Amino acid sequence: MTIDVLSVSSEAVPLIKTGGLADVAGALPGALAPHGVKMTLMLPGYPAAMQAVRKGKVVHEWDSLLGEAARLVSGKINGFPLLVLDVPAYFSREGSPYTDHSGHDWNDNWRRFAAFGRAAADLAAGAVKRRRFDVLHAHDWQAAMALAYLRFSPPEGGRRIPSVMTIHNMAFQGYFGPEIFPRLGLPKSAWTLDGVEYHGGVSYLKAGMEAASAITTVSPTYAAEIRMSEFGMGLEGIVASRSERVFGIVNGIDTGLWNPETDPELAQPYTAAKLARRKRNKRGLEVEFGLDPDEGPLFIVISRLTWQKGMDVLVETLDHLVGTGARLALLGSGDAELEASLHAAAARHPGRIGLRIGYDEALAHRMQGGGDAMLVPSRFEPCGLTQLYALAYGCVPVVARTGGLADTVIDANLAGLAAGVATGVQFAGVHYHSLATAIDRTVELYGHPKVWRTIQRNGMKCDFSWSTSGRAYAELYSQLMAEGQ
Ligand code: ADP
Repeated sequence: MTIDVLSVSSEAVPLIKTGGLADVAGALPGALAPHGVKMTLMLPGYPAAMQAVRKGKVVHEWDSLLGEAARLVSGKINGFPLLVLDVPAYFSREGSPYTDHSGHDWNDNWRRFAAFGRAAADLAAGAVKRRRFDVLHAHDWQAAMALAYLRFSPPEGGRRIPSVMTIHNMAFQGYFGPEIFPRLGLPKSAWTLDGVEYHGGVSYLKAGMEAASAITTVSPTYAAEIRMSEFGMGLEGIVASRSERVFGIVNGIDTGLWNPETDPELAQPYTAAKLARRKRNKRGLEVEFGLDPDEGPLFIVISRLTWQKGMDVLVETLDHLVGTGARLALLGSGDAELEASLHAAAARHPGRIGLRIGYDEALAHRMQGGGDAMLVPSRFEPCGLTQLYALAYGCVPVVARTGGLADTVIDANLAGLAAGVATGVQFAGVHYHSLATAIDRTVELYGHPKVWRTIQRNGMKCDFSWSTSGRAYAELYSQLMAEGQ
């Protein structure tokens, strides 16, 4: 039996991406197909998404979705079914999907993503002709209102199907003031502690978590961490109260897109058996980043430049990194203050620290294929994909012991090395001393080429494809359907 799932996300590769959510939402339909799941992805009609369905069919129309006329247009994404919600007044905006050109949240985000949720709920409940779904799967706060609408205000005659709320990052909750509540079109009964109300306002993520048949997050360690106040970001009580419905399913990577043997972005593709070929890619990076060519280790960072990612601690540690003889190539964008401190560090260390401020997917691939080690000093990390790509590319990950980083990297301590399973370096606590010590350990390991190659190869051998996690999602959907009968 095929399970029909409606996956609702605000991002998906290759159409729109600001982070790992896009990689996951884009990969899920393909990951689930071998497990008897037919997944239809629903996206907001951002310009790139509208372009993808320009020849598509209009399958439904709304006279008013929170005040604007809307259409649902069908198409394909990566060969799988796609539905795009076309509301020009909400989504026809270039640049970031969430912020204006000066980096401030669009002030109508509440309305844009409530409308998106309203439409998804209608679709999930069967209000759109010839579209029938068994499970509604919403990703992050932007899609979470779909679950609240399905719970509190399903369309007339609609079916209440089981639902999954996946949290890709608890730090983003979609919290708005109480004045929006009357405009959401929800009944008064939704304004409760176990509904959409949260500290006197409306929290979209919380609303989704309360309504969901199951809550998932993207690694087992993060699933445990979000029960604690340090990581729960205020929602730990809800996680704890629903703990028997909370599951951790680690993200996979799309091995079609991220494979050093076939990656078209690499000057020199390679395999675990031919690691020496990475050298040409490393030389290319040195040129691209204006770094001195030498035999010492080349660290890379590919990251949003934010506090979550520990980039402030990285900045503090850069003089130390250069002092060890290592170099750094960094690609990222984010907080203006962090960008300025990085520029200052690069100016202090010409030839040793190279920066690229911006977003560049192709360069990210080249960095994985040429860098020796990747630094990921995140304060919290629900899953993290960059370290998984690094493992696949033999770029040794150096990670903080938290969330998905703790679950996916095995530390090269004496036991890990003796057992032949080490894949990277872990450190506990994100501060100057822990990161500086981890850099020292990495440089030391790099100085033993045989040991280093073994760590690289161990990482490349790991299976982070979607096969295990795809099965886990499929089993969860089946379980929810069985419970619903
Ligand atoms: P998050 O989703 O929290 O940003 P992840 O590690 O899960 O972190 O996913 C980040 C994704 O975004 C990875 O695919 C990474 O390669 C990519 N990425 C982050 N910053 C950049 C950038 N400046 N340029 C290109 N890719 C980037």
